[in-house]
Amino acid sequence: MKNLLAPRTLEFAVQTNEAARSAAEHADIIAEPGFGKHFTDHMVDICWSEMGGWHRPRVQPYGPIAMDPAAAVLHYAQEVFEGLKAYRHEDGSIWTFRPEMNAERMKRSAIRLALPELPTEYFIESLRQLIAVDARWVPSTPDTSLYLRPFMFAKEAFLGVRPAAKVNYYVIASPAGAYFTGGVEPVSIWISTDYARAGRGGTGAAKTGGNYASSLVAQQEAYDHGCAQVLFLDSEKSEYLEELGGMNVVFVYKDGRVVTPESSSILEGITLDSLLQLAKDRGLKTEQRRMTISEVREGVASGDIVEMFACGTAAVLVPIAQFKAEGYTIGDADAPAGELTMSLRQELTDIQYGRVQDRHGWMTRLDA
Ligand SMILES: *Cc1c(COP(=O)(O)O)cnc(C)c1O
Repeated sequence: MKNLLAPRTLEFAVQTNEAARSAAEHADIIAEPGFGKHFTDHMVDICWSEMGGWHRPRVQPYGPIAMDPAAAVLHYAQEVFEGLKAYRHEDGSIWTFRPEMNAERMKRSAIRLALPELPTEYFIESLRQLIAVDARWVPSTPDTSLYLRPFMFAKEAFLGVRPAAKVNYYVIASPAGAYFTGGVEPVSIWISTDYARAGRGGTGAAKTGGNYASSLVAQQEAYDHGCAQVLFLDSEKSEYLEELGGMNVVFVYKDGRVVTPESSSILEGITLDSLLQLAKDRGLKTEQRRMTISEVREGVASGDIVEMFACGTAAVLVPIAQFKAEGYTIGDADAPAGELTMSLRQELTDIQYGRVQDRHGWMTRLDA
């Protein structure tokens, strides 16, 4: 659905939070933020209607969203979201990583879910506006960040099945601690054969809550088998690799090739795209192609595949020691993190935290 009217203005109305956390409460939270548990004092809210397009951009105190019990999202899951981080650099400045990629992806997700497209300038301005009032929530200890969660959903009160004529876009933010506190630990991943996360023509390539809802039962199966995450295969043959519930997967071959599965139902990760670019910069060959689970089994057994990892914004990059499935395992649960895996992780985070030169122009300053 097109936004027929051009955005009227980028002028946000700002209502500051009278009940913002005290300095002491803030200090307690920032000292041990965890992930996704604590939220900043404000949020962004922009309305959209079929008649009026995007309107009423505002920053307001963080708090409950009032909505009608018949709001379409509660019944038909018409929703999309994004996830990116604000990083505090050594000099105190606040930056984010490739936000225009998130903005473009949110538009693609929105098109798939029959939601309106939020203009990229609005998306990026919404992050700046939130940082302008909540800068103190961007932590400064190593490997911490402020996780930014833009999302959009159908708010219209109507039980008929059609794209909603009233939608809201929000941004909330949550301080995030270091993902790995005791050093980077390789994980085991469960291969689901009973459940698929997406199918051909479905919503797999969109960042939408429904994909996560359908992954939860498989995720539980992974936990039951002592695994941290689940790897999904294609829905027809359970043969071709897709991705994890919320991360892409990558294999390093002994000849230096860096390979990731290709499929129309995989979500296009920005971390993945960036890591492939960094690998290319090192002269390594990268491939995005169909991959079967037999190729992975044989490759690991023969020593052709030497490293495996998963990647996404929240955890950046997680080494995979082993895959477990009903009846077989791939690799060794005690395998250490690969050398290239760790070196790419270091390079990407060095760029994000401003410790090395940003040669691709990936960083956008949010506090100026
Ligand atoms: C968000 C997400 C990813 C990772 O994308 P990034 O842009 O790297 O954070 C991968 N898979 C799914 C299903 C996701 O929702």
